[in-house]
Amino acid sequence: MSALDFLDEELAALERAGRLRTVRTVEARRGSEVEVGGRRLVNFASNDYLGLGVDGRLAAAAARAEQELGVGAGSSRLISGHTVVTERLEAALAEMIGAPSVRLFNSGYAANTGLLPVLAGPSDVIFSDALNHASLIDGCRLSRAKVVVYRHGDLEGLERALMAELGRRRIVITESVFSMDGDAADLSGIVAVARAREAITVVDDAHAFGVLGARGAGLGWAAGADIVVGTLGKSFGAAGAFVAGPARLADLLWNRARTLVFSTGLSTGTQAAALAGLEISRGVEGDARRSRVRELTIRLCDALQIPRVAAAIVPLVLGSEDAAVAASKQLEAEGLWVPAIRPPTVPAGSARLRITLGANHEDQALARLVAGLRGACASMFHVERSASPDVPTPSMFHVEQT
Ligand SMILES: *Cc1c(COP(=O)(O)O)cnc(C)c1O
Repeated sequence: MSALDFLDEELAALERAGRLRTVRTVEARRGSEVEVGGRRLVNFASNDYLGLGVDGRLAAAAARAEQELGVGAGSSRLISGHTVVTERLEAALAEMIGAPSVRLFNSGYAANTGLLPVLAGPSDVIFSDALNHASLIDGCRLSRAKVVVYRHGDLEGLERALMAELGRRRIVITESVFSMDGDAADLSGIVAVARAREAITVVDDAHAFGVLGARGAGLGWAAGADIVVGTLGKSFGAAGAFVAGPARLADLLWNRARTLVFSTGLSTGTQAAALAGLEISRGVEGDARRSRVRELTIRLCDALQIPRVAAAIVPLVLGSEDAAVAASKQLEAEGLWVPAIRPPTVPAGSARLRITLGANHEDQALARLVAGLRGACASMFHVERSASPDVPTPSMFHVEQT
């Protein structure tokens, strides 16, 4: 007997429930292909929408910056400073989005969990879409504000909640494109409803940034959000994230965002790579990459005869976890890496395959994917898509996503 025996018990319980997760080791990466366990797989599992994560220009920019400025930041930026690369990156992001000010964070998770407690405290209310990302949910919890979860995309429900729930400050948070469903929020509707009730709107633009909006500037700021969060690990092929908003916010974040204050800054190379990714993204090459990924997404949705999604995430909801895992395994046997997404990442009863497309997927890869999906999810193409009869109530989902 040991005090640590609970570890085995918890692992065994996960295994029994079919929810034990493991990680794959990638041995090589080229274009949209990866080598896993000595086998080549086409990667439909990455959010590297513009295909920049494997771009030699990003790797070269990272290496150059690290030769000049060193690899590690050494400490929190408040203690040991940040570099000219950080300054350039924050300025370029602000310019791209059109926001007065941008503060860089180490990840989207750190941005959301750092930001929300700065905006809200125990006297405040946060209104959160039921399908918001775990980092937003955790940010809500850390803020100790009252959290009101509104039904996914339900503008009227949001408005009712805003009328009913009063507080010192009120904050509405939503993703622009939802990470596991690929659908888009009605951002201008949300902003209008929030503004009419004097609430602040925060938009997590993780899956729109670099993909949608003018020159890939995302959707949140253009829709009038007060504060926007975006990541650099998806479309920009690097890592890190940012909070965009008024200059006063950026100044307050220095002082109050604990994930910024108490965490060593991003490596210089990562920031330089993100900056190189941003520069490619906002040029004509970025436009070409965005059209390519859009074209592939439309072709995939049309070939599967499912509604077209807003960005580059295509979910195929299979319902049962076993079905999703089995379909994913079958696809892998055919050289296609399409992850099964299970609870707690998605609500119980809505396990799915989540396909993400990238600008560097080739036509032939798409054809193989369509054929593979038809075989692996045959039953699905006879029923209504995403009928998801047992999607639980919003509050259940927030509770479940621990
Ligand atoms: C990926 C993601 C995050 C987290 O970003 P990381 O940089 O991976 O930590 C936050 N919000 C949403 C909506 C995301 O999809």
